[in-house]
Amino acid sequence: MVSAPTKEKKYFAPELPTELLLAANAPARSHGEALEAGQAAARLVFHQIGEDPEREGLRQTPERFAKAINDICSGYTKTLAEVVGKGIFKAEGQGLVAVKRIEFFSLCEHHMLPFWGHVSVAYYPNEKILGLSKVARIVELFARRLQVQERLTREVADAMAEAVLPKAVGVRIQAAHTCMMMRGVQKQASETVTEYFSQMETLSALERERLVCALDG
Ligand SMILES: [Zn+2]
Repeated sequence: MVSAPTKEKKYFAPELPTELLLAANAPARSHGEALEAGQAAARLVFHQIGEDPEREGLRQTPERFAKAINDICSGYTKTLAEVVGKGIFKAEGQGLVAVKRIEFFSLCEHHMLPFWGHVSVAYYPNEKILGLSKVARIVELFARRLQVQERLTREVADAMAEAVLPKAVGVRIQAAHTCMMMRGVQKQASETVTEYFSQMETLSALERERLVCALDG
């Protein structure tokens, strides 16, 4: 009788270096400490997957990773008021304002893998409008955090509502998620669409239609 070959399970680097664990877990109080913690975290991942942190090609990677993650997640260090600044103006009319296909990059909070795509924002102003570049800055404020696409959509709409108190606002996001493309179901071509509308009941049927149409495409 031939016995089935036993599947040998391979464990990489079972011992994680204590000094790295401590550094990665230390609460960061300054920018420098945040970068150090990020570097230690990257080295821990190298150990965990069985890579050699001293290998030539990887030597500078923890530093680059720490800087990149700090930049990608820089939305935590800013507020809506700072981002909007002096970018609010008196509305000249009450016609629809739409800013379409603002590109964004974010990290999904479930896998810390990138998702990216376009945000379209449309609103009917009351008395105030927002400088067009500020709409893009609002998108950045929330995209540069750990996110889920649904919350990002709502946060952009809520921020628009807070900034200019419009009659109504709608936001639509189309995005591709690396966590779906590279792992799990591995769907490369799928696109996720999310929408969020606020105060649509204040609009006429025609205005509602125009607002929704403005978010398309
Ligand atoms: Zn994910």
